[in-house]
Amino acid sequence: MKAIRINKHGGPEVLEHEDIATPEAGAGQVSIKVATAGLNYIDTYHRTGLYPVELPLTLGLEGSGTVESVGADVSEFSAGDRVAWSGCPGSYAEYVVASADKIVQIPDGLAFESAAACMLQGMTTHYLSHSTYPLKQSDTALVHAAAGGVGLILIQVAKMLGARVIGTCGTEDKADLAREAGADEVILYTEQDFEAETRRLTDGIGVDVAYDSVGKSTWEKSMNCLRPRGYLVLFGNSSGAVPPIDPLLLSQKGSLFLTRPTLVSHTQTRDELLGRANEILSWVDSGKLNIRIDRTVPLADAADAHRALESRATKGKVLIQP
Ligand code: NDP
Repeated sequence: MKAIRINKHGGPEVLEHEDIATPEAGAGQVSIKVATAGLNYIDTYHRTGLYPVELPLTLGLEGSGTVESVGADVSEFSAGDRVAWSGCPGSYAEYVVASADKIVQIPDGLAFESAAACMLQGMTTHYLSHSTYPLKQSDTALVHAAAGGVGLILIQVAKMLGARVIGTCGTEDKADLAREAGADEVILYTEQDFEAETRRLTDGIGVDVAYDSVGKSTWEKSMNCLRPRGYLVLFGNSSGAVPPIDPLLLSQKGSLFLTRPTLVSHTQTRDELLGRANEILSWVDSGKLNIRIDRTVPLADAADAHRALESRATKGKVLIQP
């Protein structure tokens, strides 16, 4: 089968379109014919080595497809089932073998593309808004990269919970998309000082929570945007990794809370995974949650998809088609 592999770390040029053996399901596993794989920023961290992985590696964690066969001890799934996943290494390929406890059934009427597009980013917004900092109606949230894959979903979920959302993004057309998704205010952080603007928009009080996935270029100002006892949620490194933070800063800036959460630790049990995934999938299926697909690229062109994501050229989800 064809797969996108890396044999060394580096830029998008290290992605290779290779022929490898089709994997077979072992005990507790299912073999899936991949319909669509999802591109996520974490794939670029695996490629560069920012997050350690063993090489060679078939990239990709997310996708949707049809169960081809099941291994011993699998009773929840059978051949022909339509499924989706977000934590299965090797998803940039024609077939993936996944642990049965990592995949979920897709609602009957939902397209493979929509299911693949909402799993990782959708469940991330679910835990950020329901668990990391459970948003309430009186809250104001700052959401960076508001027209990104996570950003456009996080705005919608935060609005479902009744919060006020201040989004940031790089361009006017991205700002339009963030507003369409429900953002109450949008700051072009490439042109305006988002700290001063956020202070102004909150009458000098600051926001209750800053969801910051941009990292290196924003974390410090994000901290300055918080009200006393506010929450700084650092959950990504799109601009680079955040340097070590002195805990004394948290006291000086007003008894702040700092966390660096991951989806893995918010989908620890089968029940927790199913709870988040099924809620997101049902919202997408019913039209309550809109997932914007920016583009779909053929498997062989996965490197182009990485280039587009890292050059800030994408708005919403990028899919990879085996
Ligand atoms: P996005 O679609 O959000 O793409 C990244 C966006 O970040 C860009 O479009 C750009 O938007 C903004 N950005 C700002 N500065 C830079 C820069 N220097 N280089 C590149 N982009 C920049 O990606 P995803 O939705 O896939 O992921 C968003 C973030 O969330 C990532 O950091 C990812 O690692 C993180 N994440 C974390 C998870 C977790 O559980 N911890 C799970 C899922 C995602 P603009 O032009 O508007 O500034």
